[in-house]
Amino acid sequence: MALPKLEVPTYEIELPLSKKKLKYRPFLVKEQKNLLMAMESGDADTIQQNIRDILSVCTLTEGVDLDELPIIDIEYYFINLRAKSVGEISESKYRCNNTVSETKECGNIMESKINLTEIYPEAEETVDPEVRISDKIVVKMRYPQFGLIRDSINMDNITDVTFNMIANSIEYIYDGEQFHYAKETTKEELIEFIEGMNQQQFEKIEHFFNNIPRLKKKIEIVCSKCGFNHSLEVEGLESFFGL
Ligand SMILES: [Zn+2]
Repeated sequence: MALPKLEVPTYEIELPLSKKKLKYRPFLVKEQKNLLMAMESGDADTIQQNIRDILSVCTLTEGVDLDELPIIDIEYYFINLRAKSVGEISESKYRCNNTVSETKECGNIMESKINLTEIYPEAEETVDPEVRISDKIVVKMRYPQFGLIRDSINMDNITDVTFNMIANSIEYIYDGEQFHYAKETTKEELIEFIEGMNQQQFEKIEHFFNNIPRLKKKIEIVCSKCGFNHSLEVEGLESFFGL
């Protein structure tokens, strides 16, 4: 006799940057097991691939290309998926680095609980994605997409990664008369365009990237051993999962 099928709840999320609404289900025990194994491996490539796999199977909305969503949206989605699947509270450990005597740090291991549902992307400064690099030329930028991470894994130097990221994050270039859409241009042409910028123009593009919203959270912990009051800012997926 067939065993009963277990019902799985479904949820809806609005992604903060793209404003896309997605229906999803929590991940199941077998999926969590794979994820934990990937996290334990500490290998960025494996972790990234696992996050991609889990999000794919848990997303119920049809026709969603995860690779085209902003990286921060994917991280936000994943954190919320984890909150619904495992629990909203994640425990992390931090080492107290307060100097207690001339040469010695306290070294106490402090625990902190983070409510994953309170994490939301924040930017230092809001930068207009339409970056004017000269009297005539405007470059319209967009937030780096998740697919870029996979592209970048095989590149061995940081310059290639940076230029590839910029090229992938251009939506269009307006020259005062015409719009040149990136999707109708080759990657080589885009890279050549970026390489042709002067220092000031390049800095304006960098300014956009430096102010992309990030997922971070401030936490306050008082060390139980030395009493020092720590104010920490945690950022990035790993720091929210206490690895
Ligand atoms: Zn301490």
